[in-house]
Amino acid sequence: MKTDVLIVGAGFSGSVVARELAERGYRVLVIDKRDHIGGNAYDRMDAHGVLIHPYGPHIFHTNADRIAEYLTQFTEWRPYEHRVLAKVEDKLVPIPINIDTVNALYGMDLDEDTIQGFYDSVREPREKIRTSEDVVVNAVGQDLYEKFFRGYTRKQWGLDPSELNASVAARVPTRTNRDDRYFTDKFQKMPAEGYTKMFERMLDHPNIAIELGADFFELRDRVQARHIVYTGPVDAFYAYCYGHLPYRSLRFEHEHLPDTEWYQSVGTVNFPNDYAYTRTTEFKHLTGQQHRGTSLVREFPTAEGDPYYPVPRPENELLFKKYEALAEQEQDVTFVGRLAQYRYYNMDQCVGAALKSVDYILEKMGDDERAPVDLVVAQATATPAPLIAAKR
Ligand code: FAD
Ligand code: UDP
Repeated sequence: MKTDVLIVGAGFSGSVVARELAERGYRVLVIDKRDHIGGNAYDRMDAHGVLIHPYGPHIFHTNADRIAEYLTQFTEWRPYEHRVLAKVEDKLVPIPINIDTVNALYGMDLDEDTIQGFYDSVREPREKIRTSEDVVVNAVGQDLYEKFFRGYTRKQWGLDPSELNASVAARVPTRTNRDDRYFTDKFQKMPAEGYTKMFERMLDHPNIAIELGADFFELRDRVQARHIVYTGPVDAFYAYCYGHLPYRSLRFEHEHLPDTEWYQSVGTVNFPNDYAYTRTTEFKHLTGQQHRGTSLVREFPTAEGDPYYPVPRPENELLFKKYEALAEQEQDVTFVGRLAQYRYYNMDQCVGAALKSVDYILEKMGDDERAPVDLVVAQATATPAPLIAAKR
């Protein structure tokens, strides 16, 4: 098999790079070891005809106009603002913590003028904010920390918040108003026909061929490419030569409830202190689909399994740096994405990083603009996987 660029992984990172290089005239072969495109953002109908996210709920949000505009080439959008309730002491209260959360939990009657005074009365100021515990305790004190963050974080990461970088819990702010949206980004919309349709359009280009069910490590010797863009886990690329870089995994339990229009009042309910799962998401809230039944997913964090999250803590950063040093020496390989760059990227950040990587890839290939191409992407391969979209 010959191609200009081999892209390992058909998620956001690989797909954006594929499209950009294809637009510049390169023949691109995108492979993924899964049997579908879209990476973890893949969605599909379940057996009951409800659109679900098999790898957990994906809500698109960004403050970057450039990234929203980029994706708008491939999809129309449906406005959606995600709301999350947390179950604490048999109450369902808004998370991020806001005025209504505090009032409901403590039977108070605070408003925008008095809420900061309340936080000030309970917070434990920390001089240095290094860990996720520091972030939360510094903002809202011990009790709210224990009610909302400690148990959830231990469950999600298998680590205490004091063992994780501040950036993890800092994803969830503390509010001094009544805003109960999970995100405040200016662009909060879902792809109108789902993520997979958006990926299909992104990858629908005469210069892009796709091969699914194809593991890079099994077919690398059979592909001749001028350059490789790798979006899988970086430690796997180097055969774990410095040891395993920790990635947190999840087990998803999907459920369909027939003849039940709604199961819960918001998209996601978090369970910081009960159960082995962290949250329940009801997809119809996210997608706007109408159906007489409803489909849910519960997320059970695990140490083993597909890599989903880098684990942001200093010792992992150090280990990643060792792999990164190897990666930086590669002339013919570029590492892009959440797993390859070991960054807790949201989808929009993956798009941003992928767009940014294109110039770097071209530079490494020694091409200013486009390479003349006369290579053909061979469809025939010894790999049993189907070639779903070989286009010329
Ligand atoms: P991935 O989507 O992981 O794609 C990498 C691909 O590479 C995979 O398909 C994999 O099969 C393939 N691959 C790996 N190794 C090989 C190999 N050896 N050979 C062939 N193929 C290989 N972000 C948001 O913005 N909003 C959200 O609400 C949100 N929710 C999330 C919920 C969960 C449960 C998870 C896990 C993530 C969530 N994210 C969310 C983050 C989002 O999933 C990522 O930012 C994004 O999908 C990462 O894209 P990627 O292409 O870098 O990686
Ligand atoms: N978190 C928490 N309680 C919550 C929500 C979040 O402790 O109710 C912490 C937890 O450590 C989680 C992190 O904040 O992993 C980031 O939350 P987010 O919802 O952004 O996680 P993701 O959607 O990426 O899994």
